[in-house]
Amino acid sequence: MKSIAVYPGSFDPLTNGHLDIIRRAYPLFEKIIIAVAINSRKSSLFTPEERLALIKEVFKGWDKIEFDTFQGLTVDYCKSRGARVILRGLRAVTDFDYEYAISLMNKKLAPEIETFFLMADNEYSFVSSTIVKEVARHGKAVSNQVPDIVNEALLKKFENS
Ligand code: ADP
Repeated sequence: MKSIAVYPGSFDPLTNGHLDIIRRAYPLFEKIIIAVAINSRKSSLFTPEERLALIKEVFKGWDKIEFDTFQGLTVDYCKSRGARVILRGLRAVTDFDYEYAISLMNKKLAPEIETFFLMADNEYSFVSSTIVKEVARHGKAVSNQVPDIVNEALLKKFENS
């Protein structure tokens, strides 16, 4: 596909589920921009800069991937980058209502931009940043659910708490 895709998200932090979506979408697009959403109304564990730094480290050497942060509407950001596709992952049915509503709204705002969904792999369908943070907060390993450097960053965050 000769399209540029934006993969927007909180990525607080990046998990193996996100990684799997990127890995599978990678051959399908000319370029994928991983875009960390800066949302001051959503509390986060990692700053946008920390989240971006972890993502950059994980995808070092993947030459079709670019990295960015953005504020405001995803469709406006896509237009500013010349992207025609929003990439999203779908886990259990709990994701569906939210993702469907957002994709319909985005279609109204920008009919030329398509949302492209990939179903979560069986292995990752219950991996979520929220759960990973909760487990790590209580000192338990999440090394099978996140890349190694994310695991280390989580351990460090909770070291003194
Ligand atoms: P947001 O706050 O925008 O939902 P997330 O970082 O939680 O940001 O997720 C970004 C995207 O990745 C969403 O489309 C989400 O459904 C998808 N995603 C999250 N975890 C997984 C997973 N384990 N497998 C597949 N897709 C996932």
